Amino acid sequence: MPSARFCLRPASRRLPRSNTRHHVTTSRPYEELNACITQHAPSPSSSTQTAKTVAIKDNIATKDFPTTVASNILAGFTSPFDATVVRLLRENDYTISTKTNLDEFGMGSHTQSSSHGPTLSPYSRNGIPLSPGGSSGGSAVEVLTGRSWTALGTDTGGSVRLPAAYLGVVGFKPSFGVVSRWGVLAYGHSLDTVGILGRRLGDVSGVFGVVRGWDGRDPSSLTMRVRERIEEAREVRRRRRRRRKKGGVLRIGVPLEYNIVELSPLVRSTYIRTLERLQSVGHTLHPISLPSTKQALSAYYVLAPAEASSNLAKYDGVRYGTRPTDPDSSPRDNLPLYAQTRGQGFGEEVKRRILLGAYTLSSEARDNYFIQAQKGRRLVQRDFDRVFALANPLLDPPHSVPDSDSTGGEQDEGVDVIITPTAPTLPPTIEEVKRQSPVESYMNDVFTVPASLAGLPAISMPVGLSEEEAKGLEQTDVGSVGVQVMGQFGDDEGVLDVASMIEEGQWKS
Ligand code: GLN
Repeated sequence: MPSARFCLRPASRRLPRSNTRHHVTTSRPYEELNACITQHAPSPSSSTQTAKTVAIKDNIATKDFPTTVASNILAGFTSPFDATVVRLLRENDYTISTKTNLDEFGMGSHTQSSSHGPTLSPYSRNGIPLSPGGSSGGSAVEVLTGRSWTALGTDTGGSVRLPAAYLGVVGFKPSFGVVSRWGVLAYGHSLDTVGILGRRLGDVSGVFGVVRGWDGRDPSSLTMRVRERIEEAREVRRRRRRRRKKGGVLRIGVPLEYNIVELSPLVRSTYIRTLERLQSVGHTLHPISLPSTKQALSAYYVLAPAEASSNLAKYDGVRYGTRPTDPDSSPRDNLPLYAQTRGQGFGEEVKRRILLGAYTLSSEARDNYFIQAQKGRRLVQRDFDRVFALANPLLDPPHSVPDSDSTGGEQDEGVDVIITPTAPTLPPTIEEVKRQSPVESYMNDVFTVPASLAGLPAISMPVGLSEEEAKGLEQTDVGSVGVQVMGQFGDDEGVLDVASMIEEGQWKS
């Protein structure tokens, strides 16, 4: 793979506008942002009080707070147990501060479809609040406003990374199976991961160190064999980087397919500046092709609803789910209990996805939709395996495609990480979101779903706009763009290392 210098314009030495504004100045009171569903009173206000507080997205079970998934179907439900991630946090002396708002069952990109009402970003344009991103928008607002030190979210197709990008915080989605999902209410079980949000990378990786690890209660937890391979791969990575040159130069993949017309100029220039900065300290940029990227979004929006329609079938008012309190108030009160419970308990977007999923799994549509989408997913995974230097530890035996024989499981010409924007544009206003069709709003996830389909570790890092770039924006607008780093399956450390270079670069430039 050739090394290319991306000299689209000379590297900027301009100072970025504050990229990680720890406390946002906003005229809107915190309560109006509606970031939380349940909160321990009184809410912490000083930084010492927030020292070890972690906010938890309300689709993760806690025994001392209700867990509603922002849905009427679970209104008032309190779990008899803590999710494994919550238990681990408590055992390590972290305090659970609050349960945060989300799109119902995690289905959405703007935290606007919650039974608890929408969450607002503290940022605004022409006085209209911006989208906080979703579905972990409540968790991201919590950390941005400094109410909680860090937060857990879930990321099925981008729900930790998109809010991080839209609010200028750090959002990390670990490799699938590295963090336990026991006690996490399923949306799309082959895609769901628990992710971490924070203002600083060090905080996020600290929490990751606490919540990661094998869990016998979670059937998707990585097996011992895969974990051993990941350890071996880590050693391979270290050796290779030592061999390459003094500073352990990085090979950074720049996917051509992510250069789409919808990319806004500010996102493009900030992304290019980040690449140039990494290049200026000796790392090399490599154009790569991930041709199946085009299929990723449609594959995701077939598979996630299909899994959701099956995962949500248990909310029937008998096994799970709150029955309507006043069945007679329903105009359809002659319907069976299931229909009443589900009709009244689920919101519009959840119903849309259940219907869509039920259709794509039906015998008449299965071959054209579900099976095609699975094939698309496989192609997306193969694209990644083809470009990464590290072998995929999930493949048996682990190999890189197509060089398996000659390299003994690693290809020297591959890339260490892939860097892309997290989202194609700055956050839209919530008025713009309301005008979007469901399909238009699915577009926000175009850069985040490929890593989800392949289960890869990925992080969104905030990169401040230059003064020049920020000139056209109001002071109340978000001053940063999310830049995403993706790594080979299991290479969570590699992704965090590169993220730290991006974070440091903010202060050095
Ligand atoms: N926006 C995507 C969806 O609605 C991703 C959501 C998520 O990651 N939970 O499916």
